[in-house]
This record gives sequence, C-alpha cells and structure tokens, in this order.
Amino acid sequence: MRQSELFTKTRKTAPKDEVAKNAQLLIRAGYIHKEMAGVYSFLPLGLRVLNKINDIVREEMNAVGGQELTMSVLQNKELWEKTGRWSDEVVDNWFKTQLKNGADTSLAFTAEEPITNIMRDYLNSYADLPKLAYQIQWKYRNEERAKSGIMRGREFLMKDMYSFAGSADEHEKVYEKVAEAYVKIFQRLGIGDRTYRTFASGGVFSKYSHEFQCLSPIGEDTIYVHEGKKIAINKEVLLPEVLGDLGVTQEELVEQKAIEVGNIFSLGTRFSDALGLKFKQKDGSEAAPVMGCYGIGTSRLLGALVEVFADEKGIVWPESVAPFSAHLVAISSGNEDVIKEADRLYELLKDSGIDVLYDDRDVRAGEKFADSDLIGIPTRLVVSEKTMSEGGIERVDRQSGSTGFVQDSEVVQQLQK
Ligand code: ATP
Ligand code: MG
Repeated sequence: MRQSELFTKTRKTAPKDEVAKNAQLLIRAGYIHKEMAGVYSFLPLGLRVLNKINDIVREEMNAVGGQELTMSVLQNKELWEKTGRWSDEVVDNWFKTQLKNGADTSLAFTAEEPITNIMRDYLNSYADLPKLAYQIQWKYRNEERAKSGIMRGREFLMKDMYSFAGSADEHEKVYEKVAEAYVKIFQRLGIGDRTYRTFASGGVFSKYSHEFQCLSPIGEDTIYVHEGKKIAINKEVLLPEVLGDLGVTQEELVEQKAIEVGNIFSLGTRFSDALGLKFKQKDGSEAAPVMGCYGIGTSRLLGALVEVFADEKGIVWPESVAPFSAHLVAISSGNEDVIKEADRLYELLKDSGIDVLYDDRDVRAGEKFADSDLIGIPTRLVVSEKTMSEGGIERVDRQSGSTGFVQDSEVVQQLQK
C-alpha cells in the first residue's frame, strides 16, 4: 500500500484525556480513533493488526477442535433469567435497552447462556461430545474505569470459546488442551516468556480458574510469579492452602504487575442444568454436559503488545502481527532515479507476496523516519541517493535499531520467511 493513499496520517499529539500509553501511541500513529472514553474505532492499520491477532487465535482454537460461529449481540432476557444472571444486582455492567414493544434486551457481555441454549438443539448423545464452539465478537460492558486505553474498553473484541463434555474427566482433558493452545498463542504473539498461567479463584465448580497474565508495570492485576515453575498466583488467592496445593513457598514468589490477556474457567453443569441441556449417556440415562469457558481479549492484547514492546520512539510490533512486514521509505528529494528505484522495489516486494507499506510521500526525510518509528513496522527499507550509490538498500531493524546494506534478493528471501 502506498502511504500517500492511506487516509490516516500520523499526529503529533493524542487527546488530552488519554492517559494510557497504548491508546496515545495507537491514536498518534493512526491505528485507532477515540470515539469517547473506553470506546475506539479501529482504522485500517489497526484493523490489520487486530485481524492478525484474531487469525492466530483462530488457528490455535481450530487446532484443538474449536468450531467458529458468531452469536447475536442482542440478548434474549429469558435465557438470562433462567440462570439468574439478568438482575442488575448480579451483573452490574450491562448495557440494557428496550424493544419498541417495551420488552427488555441487552448487548452481549459474555455468551454462556446463548451458546448453551443453541446446543440444546444439537447435543443429544454421549457420542456428540466433547464439542467446542467459539466466536470472536465485540462485547459490551459498562466498565466503571476506562483509563487503560483499549485494554479496558466499554466495547472490545473477545474470543470466547465454550466446551461441552460428557464427564468431568473428559472436561479436564479438553481444558488442558485449550490451556496448551493458549500458551502457543502467547508465544506466537511474542509474549510467551512474560505470560504466566496464573491460579485464580475457581468459583463453585472447580477449586481454581486460570488467568493468563502478561507482565507489565501498567497491568491492573497483581500476581505472584514462580519463575522456576513458570506459574503465578493471583493476589486474591495468595493463601497458605494454595501455596501448599502448588508446592511453592512465599519466599520463592516475586510480586509483579500484570495484564490479564485471557482466562479459562470450569463451569461444571451450572449452565447446562439451568437451561435444560441434557444428553443420553451410554447406559441410556440422562446427564448434563460439563462445561468450560475460555476467553481471550484480542483488542486488549493489541494494546498489551504496544505497552510491552513500545520504546521512546513509538510502537514496535512483533513480526507475527505487524500491519505490514516491511516499511519501504523513499528519500528522494525529488530525484527521479530514486523514485524509480523505490517504485521498482515496491513492485518486486508486492509480487513476492510481501505486505509492504511504501512511504512515497513528498515529505522531509526526518519526518518519514519519525513516522516510520512511530508506526513500528519491524523492517524498514530505505532507498536514497546514498543507498543507490552504494549499490543496495538500507535495512533497519525497528526493534534493535541495527542497520545494514542488503540486496533485493536477500530482502525478499528474509521477508518471505
Ligand atoms: P478483567 O478482570 O480485566 O475485568 P474479566 O475477568 O472481566 O477481566 P472475562 O469476562 O473473563 O474477563 O473476559 C475474558 C477476557 O476478555 C479477559 O481475560 C480480558 O483479556 C478481556 N477483557 C475483559 N474485559 C475487557 C475490557 N473491558 N476491555 C478489553 N478487554 C477485556
Ligand atoms: Mg471485567
């Protein structure tokens, strides 16, 4: 894509009321637009990154047997009354509204009730189980605090998966498989080394739930990390009994701030019981499927990646989710030969299947480099009179800042892998 054609432009400043680094940088670089506190639109660059994150999540969910669907955002109150969750006393962050006829409805903040109700039409026998279904869907929550930029949105994108198993054992197997898929996702996003499977309170049906917490000083959560075991404990369950269960001592743990990027929960038969989802077991008797739910905040993850990797010059994307693989920057000062060479390279990269943003704008070199640093594409390729006289292209690594001269063929090879 030619940068001269991109409708977004970089900005020197972010809105004054925007305190979070992720939103400040994303707004300045033209990835997102702030509509109001906690509500953001994703612009072309931002949508590219969001889609790449979603694709990684989707691939790993499909790999463990997840089947993608998309459920309605408008909710059927009846279902939520059956599980006792409609009341404002139970769920206090719902956006609720009325139909023309006065009937109540609401916007999805999660989806246990509708997915369980859908499955009533399809899961009949033990032979149908286990099943996993997920969606990547905008969620709406009237969050009280919205000061972490896109990491705590009132409208945000979540992957929510739900599992249905024929027994507690079968459920445990599914649960562990999904937990492993989560580890892979965070590795592919470049935050595997700083994201900890964290023990948190489990609710009624299991002793623990698990959060996936990414270390960051701006995280809202406090966790206690065990480096050796690569696990952590959420502050809210840091109790002698829990330490005993995990075979760790308080002295081995390090207190850290972290961002909750995902969580997984055993639900038992709470929802299948309440909504009347049943299946026939081998012996002919009826039972309720054992359920699990598995969330990942994909828009929050986008913000978390900015928080974790950005430097004083701007955003630094991991290769796996960068909006483009290469940022081709032409420094021509009107020199036609340079423009021709940069155009040629642009076509070559495109023809080689490489996603490239081509800064073909007629602006000063300093401004181009500052914008390129702010936008944060992993590889910058500079074409100028100087690079042409030296017979190559200057390749700059956004993360390390290291530079070197390369030939087109090398660049293509490197970027293709
Ligand atoms: P938190 O404790 O941060 O409020 P939660 O316990 O409400 O999270 P879930 O309801 O389980 O989280 O949602 C699943 C995932 O969705 C979370 O792990 C998080 O990554 C993401 N998420 C939750 N609330 C928000 C939000 N307001 N904005 C962006 N992402 C969110
Ligand atoms: Mg919450």
